[in-house]
Amino acid sequence: NLILAFESSADETSAAVVKNGHEILSNIVATQIASHQRFGGIVPEVASRHHLEWINRVTKEALQEASVTDPAAQLSAVAATYGPGLVGSLLIGLMAGKTFAMVHGLPFIAVNHLAGHISAANFVQPTSYPAMAVMVSGGHTELLWMAKENSFQIIGTTLDDAAGEAFDKVGRILGLNYPAGKEMQEMAAKGQANIHFPIAHTENTFDFSFSGLKSSVLNYVHHADQLSEQINKNDVAASFQKAVVEAIIEKTEAAIQVFQPVQLLLGGGVAANLALRTAIEHLAQTYHLKLTEAPISLAGDNAAMIGAAAYLNFKAGRFSGLDLNTDPSLNFSRM
Ligand code: ATP
Ligand code: MG
Ligand code: FE
Repeated sequence: NLILAFESSADETSAAVVKNGHEILSNIVATQIASHQRFGGIVPEVASRHHLEWINRVTKEALQEASVTDPAAQLSAVAATYGPGLVGSLLIGLMAGKTFAMVHGLPFIAVNHLAGHISAANFVQPTSYPAMAVMVSGGHTELLWMAKENSFQIIGTTLDDAAGEAFDKVGRILGLNYPAGKEMQEMAAKGQANIHFPIAHTENTFDFSFSGLKSSVLNYVHHADQLSEQINKNDVAASFQKAVVEAIIEKTEAAIQVFQPVQLLLGGGVAANLALRTAIEHLAQTYHLKLTEAPISLAGDNAAMIGAAAYLNFKAGRFSGLDLNTDPSLNFSRM
């Protein structure tokens, strides 16, 4: 089974060929981060134009690298992300996928981007069920219950900012470029977590809240500024990162106790964070849970993870018509 997959929900234009849902034959990712950095975030119009410029090139490269010369004969299906994301960005990958499927007479599979992030774990090992997924990205922070393969229900979600968004906003306060997550991690590694930034405890739910944490970092920096005191940015990054990781672990642990999964999954751009990985590894050990983390190289947006998720739909016979539209606010339902 070979699936050609497309991803274009945010600022990465990507095409990949995935074999049997867990083997990458090619995964071409064209990032447009540099174009957005001077604006401090993604500019939707700029993003769509980039996707349009790059989509054919990444498709050609993905097919070439996977030695696909006769798509109709070699491929089993074509897949694309249809949400969540920016509508103008999603449209480019979705149109490319549907068009490719139509031209070559192949079935089409629409993929939820978040299911894609979680499916990046499939490149490491098969999942055992029931599982709980910790999905931490630039736009989402969710605890998801997976009673069985390809089934996702929201246990908890963020009430305001996503974890990655918090990293990016605090990074901006510290003068970093967008996206700031990786650089924040590098600064944190050089600093001491010696500043207390309080985390939200959202009583009796498994929901997250990161905007208060962001505000307290902002207050800390402003306060020091007013007093003309020097701040140690590395210490701020370390203290902030510690608080984010603690907040994620606190809710994950509470959910483990209630739902008792046999397996944990970690996915999304923030899954690349080493402090979070270490903490989740420790948590899994404590509760004797199997753990699969998205490989760091596949934590951010890429089409291979979309191909992995599409394979699960393929097995379940879940195909989509070519009249399918984007769903920018697509999400799972609450448990
Ligand atoms: P979504 O998946 O919710 O639609 P997105 O696709 O824009 O949003 P991703 O590409 O999955 O988000 O993740 C990007 C986010 O991950 C950014 O906010 C970035 O700062 C963050 N990130 C990347 N690497 C790290 C890291 N090492 N530590 C912390 N955050 C990180
Ligand atoms: Mg991104
Ligand atoms: Fe993403």
